[in-house]
Amino acid sequence: MIAPGPAAIPAFDAARVRRDFPILGQQVNGQPLVYLDNAATTQKPDSVIEAIDSYYRCDNANVHRGVHTLSDRATQRFEQARQSVADFIGSPATSQVIWTSGTTAAINLVAYSWGHSRLRSGDRILVSWLEHHSNIVPWQLVAAATGAEVVPVPVTDEGEIDLSALDTLLDERVKLVAVNHVSNALGTVNPVREIARRAHAAGALVLVDGAQSVAHWPVDVAALDCDFYTFSGHKLFGPTGIGVLWGREALLDAMPPFLGGGEMIEQVAFSASTFNSLPFKFEAGTPNIAGAIGLGAAVEYLAGIDRQGAAAHEAALLQRTLELAEQVQGLRRIGHPRHAAGIFSFLLEGMHPSDLGMLLDQQGIAVRTGHHCAQPLMARFGIPGTVRASYSIYNTQEDVSRLFEGIHKAQRLFA
Ligand code: PLP
Repeated sequence: MIAPGPAAIPAFDAARVRRDFPILGQQVNGQPLVYLDNAATTQKPDSVIEAIDSYYRCDNANVHRGVHTLSDRATQRFEQARQSVADFIGSPATSQVIWTSGTTAAINLVAYSWGHSRLRSGDRILVSWLEHHSNIVPWQLVAAATGAEVVPVPVTDEGEIDLSALDTLLDERVKLVAVNHVSNALGTVNPVREIARRAHAAGALVLVDGAQSVAHWPVDVAALDCDFYTFSGHKLFGPTGIGVLWGREALLDAMPPFLGGGEMIEQVAFSASTFNSLPFKFEAGTPNIAGAIGLGAAVEYLAGIDRQGAAAHEAALLQRTLELAEQVQGLRRIGHPRHAAGIFSFLLEGMHPSDLGMLLDQQGIAVRTGHHCAQPLMARFGIPGTVRASYSIYNTQEDVSRLFEGIHKAQRLFA
């Protein structure tokens, strides 16, 4: 008898995935929608929309401490979502998954709670030039209050963090290194595990802003060996207004609460109050219950698709984009990172980014234009902004072709 060969692995089918996202079936300005603004926010599959809908239709109640059935159901769905997110990022415990309203809120939580209690005059926080404003400004605010200093880590002309410059900056004054996993402006995939190794060797903690990475490939926070990891639900096929701070348990335990109020306390008296255990210590007030349930549904949706295949598919989209870009006269790609996620940032000679953005929109193609909340990076490249096309699991090679047809048409109209 001949032994059966390995089962054929079906190729990742973006067209099939696309059908799970109802918004993508529409026409915009008389053309089938090509949605290439995924770095700003992703679209939502039916399962996420249905999870939120069924929560409000069937189970809506406030969570925790409720004695009635609806409250119990809402709590179970809310905490099940936390478990799904913990599994999704490889968190050793659900108590390390703290709900926030998004990446921005998660970074601010660390800046205020950890930063205000730990930073002193003369301490340094390193942030890279690739950072989104939400991984710069919170550190500036805490630095102004504590006397610490925010020091930028240079990036190369390719748009990569300069690791030798990082080494030079890493001394005993540095208490934290804050970097994104993927640059939202250039698509650079940063070697965060290696950065964490170097930072830890110098005695500094590491916060990774994962807003642009979690949607593209499986992230394992334990394997990355970072101290904090943050991301937003809406960039991960979930709803807006929900996000996650993941942290090392010992660090989170030692940090003082950020916001005070209901749920985060153990005992309140006018003489003094004591605080709840993790994760509730950092979740004051009624949380975004529907948002958490929606995010839980989003990561469960991703658990059901071939993520390696999806990552390879997005890489193929970027590869084709780079090939077609070479054929466009006057197109300048900003940054040439060796390892890039599906983000393509560029300029067309003689055309303002927002003009191109509007001309593409007239053809049903949604891209983002501007500084992408990364003004220091734009200044580093001496440009006011870029046009950014960003891909996701449901984009197709047809979308890439449409983008370049749109660019050529815009050039003809502008000539
Ligand atoms: N960090 C990066 C790299 C981002 O791309 C974004 C949003 O674009 C943020 C942080 C902020 O995310 P949010 O607005 O969801 O808090």
